[in-house]
Amino acid sequence: MDQRYTLAPEALGPTITIGEILVEIMATTVGNGFREAQSLIGPFPSGAPAIFIDQVAKLGGACGIVSAVGDDDFGHLNIDRLARDGVDVSAIAVLPDLPTGSAFVRYRPDGARDFVFNIGKSASGATAMTGQARDLIARAGHVHVMGSAFAIPGIAPIILEAVSVVKARGGTVSFDPNVRKELMSGGGEAKRQFDSVLDVTDLLLPSGEELSIAAGVDGEVLAIESLLACGISEVVLKRGRQGSSHYSRSHGAVDCPAFAVEEIDPTGAGDCFGATYLTCRRKGHAPQQALRYANAAGARNVTRQGPMEGTSSLAELDAFIAANLVLSDQGKVSA
Ligand code: ATP
Ligand code: MG
Repeated sequence: MDQRYTLAPEALGPTITIGEILVEIMATTVGNGFREAQSLIGPFPSGAPAIFIDQVAKLGGACGIVSAVGDDDFGHLNIDRLARDGVDVSAIAVLPDLPTGSAFVRYRPDGARDFVFNIGKSASGATAMTGQARDLIARAGHVHVMGSAFAIPGIAPIILEAVSVVKARGGTVSFDPNVRKELMSGGGEAKRQFDSVLDVTDLLLPSGEELSIAAGVDGEVLAIESLLACGISEVVLKRGRQGSSHYSRSHGAVDCPAFAVEEIDPTGAGDCFGATYLTCRRKGHAPQQALRYANAAGARNVTRQGPMEGTSSLAELDAFIAANLVLSDQGKVSA
């Protein structure tokens, strides 16, 4: 195999993902929850898998998503946005009897967030395998698995089928665990699904405690070594304002600092980062270059209100990198 590629090159077929499409509606004021009338802004297209796939499309990567929305304005808002940006929307089912999923979010004074979700009993919650989904999966070159999607019961079998079909044709798998420790303790169904995806993962994209959950050992160095020893080709750590790092047998350790920006809305940074890193690697960029673009995509996204409003084209990332300074390890701005 060409040494530049540890992930399936773009020529093998589109990047696909499976999971929830939502609208997000945000409180315009900081405060505690929604137990009073207040002003809101939205609906914004959202859902971690949807943000991810929109970012792949913006970079010119062929891509598609398996999901479901209702036959309502929230659903059509999402389909129109994804289609406009270049996502294959053929495997998004439009369900007549269920509303599109939604998330209301309000920031508290300490930065924590209160949510009101409608996912389980929404169209997203009823996502199922369809003929269109099978067609898309049959053509795909890479599957991105979003850990949060496993919260929807019908989605796990679709993910596992997609992974096995795409792997059988020489494709690859990336995995953003997106989980909390509490969900993984006790060795239940969630942990079994997590481990079955980990077994076939080529690129792992953890942040925070997800690294030690995935590795089953504490300590960054030990955890990374154990994951590489298990056959994962690349581990890429997302470190928020501390930037990101790549680890692999072929390229060793590569660190890249974050950009100095004012954070307006952090939702979606990890999804934009992952989509950009993956797409750059599938295009044949070296890890250093892929990390730089991915850090720029994450940083640019947090400067925009609305989770999908800050997805970026390559030209926008080039302009962003030229115009913004990076943060040093100590959090100081440097050239
Ligand atoms: P999420 O909160 O969406 O789940 P995550 O925890 O998966 O995100 P983060 O590390 O928060 O991922 O963000 C991904 C990348 O985006 C970081 O590695 C960094 O490059 C960039 N980024 C995120 N937040 C900021 C910020 N406030 N300033 C600069 N860059 C940021
Ligand atoms: Mg974060």
